Amino acid sequence: MTVPISAPPPVLRFAPSPNGPLHLGHAYSALRNEKVAVETGGRLLLRIEDLDRSRCNPECEAAILNDLDWLGVRFAGEVVRQSERAELYQGALNRLVSQNLAYPCFCSRSDVARLAKARDPDGAPLYPGTCKSISANERYARLERGEPVAWRLDLGRAAKEVQGALFWMEYGEGDVPVARRAAPERWGDVVLRGRDNAASYHLAVTVDDADQGVTDVVRGKDLLEATSVHRLLQVMLEYPAPRYRHHRLVLDMSGAKLSKSRYSPSLANLRAAGAMASGLRAALGFGEGDSGGIAVRLSA
Ligand code: GLU
Repeated sequence: MTVPISAPPPVLRFAPSPNGPLHLGHAYSALRNEKVAVETGGRLLLRIEDLDRSRCNPECEAAILNDLDWLGVRFAGEVVRQSERAELYQGALNRLVSQNLAYPCFCSRSDVARLAKARDPDGAPLYPGTCKSISANERYARLERGEPVAWRLDLGRAAKEVQGALFWMEYGEGDVPVARRAAPERWGDVVLRGRDNAASYHLAVTVDDADQGVTDVVRGKDLLEATSVHRLLQVMLEYPAPRYRHHRLVLDMSGAKLSKSRYSPSLANLRAAGAMASGLRAALGFGEGDSGGIAVRLSA
């Protein structure tokens, strides 16, 4: 007789960076995570992505927790902060270094900007691999001298390790997955650990999702392309592949993506102007009832 094995419940995470107030785009993402968690009987975790110490601060984190509480999104377990997980990231980086899949890079941002001949999918200068050809002796000497150093993925080597094409299961906002082919080569030798942080976004998010047992990554379409890098790192680090659900983005009335850098009302602004959480939920498509005059425009 076979004993039926029930699949463990899904694990999701909402992962804001505390470098500005939450706006409608964050609310949409948090509510989309909540919806998937409720529909699948999953657990929703909260991870604070505060690795960029120059842009993140505790006041911002407190405001985010307050906004999420007001919105009524509840999370399972303790809040996890990336700033407290440096050892975990270092362990993953060491593993990649020991497999010859990461190398030290001594270039500054302006060196990269000057030498780059192409751009990555985010529009940033594509690193041309300058430090890959530095001899082992010179690397050692420069590390010994304590030169500022970042660590980069050797994409060429990593791609060779992958047998055949690399895919992920993309659900978008629906129930039927499409296999998407990863194209990590478009990102070049990405930074794994920067000069001034314990890990890059790509490394930290990949390590954390695996460490926290995340089965379903629900996040904005603006991170769709970055998933190619995450899939490659997952294979290199022997982590399981989550399901991905990249959702639509909230646009401002001119059709541009909302971001913290351009004017868009924060949840705190809306609240101060008298908005109700139920109205915001309705405006974003996650609740019945009156949107209280909040207008929202979503991307395709
Ligand atoms: N911390 C990222 C942000 O606030 C989200 C990262 C992710 O969901 O993978 O945009």
